[in-house]
Amino acid sequence: MRTAAFLNRMPPYLFAQIDAKRDALEAQGVDVISLGIGDPDTPTPPHIVDAMAEAIRNPANHRYPDYAGSRAYRTACADWMRSRFGVEVDPATEVLALIGSKEGIAHLHTAYLDPGDWVLAPSIGYPVYSGGALMQNANTYFMPMREEDGFLADFSQVPADVLDAAKIMFLGYPNNPTGACAAEAYFDAAIAFCLEHDLLLAHDNAYCDICFDGYRAPSILERPHAKECCIEFFSLSKSYNMTGWRIAFACGNPEAVGALGTVKNNLDSGQFTAVQDAAIAALSGDQQCVADLCALYQHRRDVVVEALRAIGLECNTPKATIYVWAKVPAGETSASFATKLLEQAHVIVTPGSGYGPDGEGYIRISLTTPDDRLLEAARRIKEAMA
Ligand SMILES: *Cc1c(COP(=O)(O)O)cnc(C)c1O
Repeated sequence: MRTAAFLNRMPPYLFAQIDAKRDALEAQGVDVISLGIGDPDTPTPPHIVDAMAEAIRNPANHRYPDYAGSRAYRTACADWMRSRFGVEVDPATEVLALIGSKEGIAHLHTAYLDPGDWVLAPSIGYPVYSGGALMQNANTYFMPMREEDGFLADFSQVPADVLDAAKIMFLGYPNNPTGACAAEAYFDAAIAFCLEHDLLLAHDNAYCDICFDGYRAPSILERPHAKECCIEFFSLSKSYNMTGWRIAFACGNPEAVGALGTVKNNLDSGQFTAVQDAAIAALSGDQQCVADLCALYQHRRDVVVEALRAIGLECNTPKATIYVWAKVPAGETSASFATKLLEQAHVIVTPGSGYGPDGEGYIRISLTTPDDRLLEAARRIKEAMA
């Protein structure tokens, strides 16, 4: 039997080596602290769980869902876009329910790419932007992301032949893993570029709600002309601690939403309607739970940033996301430093190189661990570096 050729071209799983080392340490009874996973550690707010408990008893929800999402869910998404960003989207044609935004992003490639086409992806970013292209036998051009440019992906130097064959540009701010945020002028320039070159701009807004110090992240759809070329992905995973529920939505340009919907019609039959009902409770309910979550992460961010700087590790102070992006010490690579921290401090961090070429030289620390464990990790890292 022979599998598809692209499977052999998939990059080796970033964490496989680290996972194996961790398993070996834990088998010996070693207490390993993981700062590697971007998965909220606190539970889904109770009013959302209660809505699910009620929805699951409704026999109407036991049947196949509406493929594009229930009318009620899509309306709740549109209402939320209006109240959160002042953005108008038509629930019938400009909103699509997703089984998590990763699913939607991956299938956007299916909707847009033929073999040999190109996508433009940030040189430090969520692996599915390029992985999805690989699965369509398409190519990825990594847009440089430099610290001195605030980690804003630079689309000014894309070679002409790549641009001719490019169909999608992916961006995501607030950014996983760098924590960078984009100003309106950057989004405006990206929109102008995509309109000029007939590209779909896919904006991943998974972290728009996890903001600190009074910062409020925008939707790209707030910007003029955005709906002519943009599709935006919002996920309930991070805002409402719902990573396990698999619920998100795409909205924006109706042709793009429709194309993604057509692919999904042929692949899946939508998300369980009870999960959509719970998501309605999240989007339309009291938003205090989101503010509480931001306060929790902001405090942890301060703990981590202070501890890293005290050790002599350079890092940013992110205005958003659940990550701190730190420089590795001179003489180390992302992988060598992550391995050293695992072996000597029994602390797992993510090597930045796993997010793309420009991630080399950095590590990502996730804030999804309580204060006492973060402090213990910092103490151990200090010891290991001494
Ligand atoms: C966590 C995350 C998401 C959310 O993915 P889901 O599939 O909706 O859980 C999307 N994009 C990025 C960059 C993320 O880090």
